[in-house]
Amino acid sequence: MARKIRDESWNTDEPAESAPAELCWLCGRPLGKTVDRFHPIPKSRGGRDTVPVHPICRETIDANFSAGELVRHAENSIPLSDNETVARFIKWVANKPADFHSATKAGR
Ligand SMILES: [Zn+2]
Repeated sequence: MARKIRDESWNTDEPAESAPAELCWLCGRPLGKTVDRFHPIPKSRGGRDTVPVHPICRETIDANFSAGELVRHAENSIPLSDNETVARFIKWVANKPADFHSATKAGR
């Protein structure tokens, strides 16, 4: 009783660890080893979707936007880079390595 098993595992060309290269939602650079998930609409405001961001980008968002402002941006499709501080941050971080994390001025 020869059962023919369709074993095509040899035929899959998916590499074992194929992580699709994701880009940061804020700065648009490829993500590094550490990826933060950010809620464009805060959970407290009913947001369910998350986007991948660099930890440093997430901190920048947290530092510059309140929950209400994030909702306003999301609802009106205003990019966060509309904020001058954030725009300057994106330019500044553009040529930093993906895992760059400024540890300066921690501990406020
Ligand atoms: Zn980023």
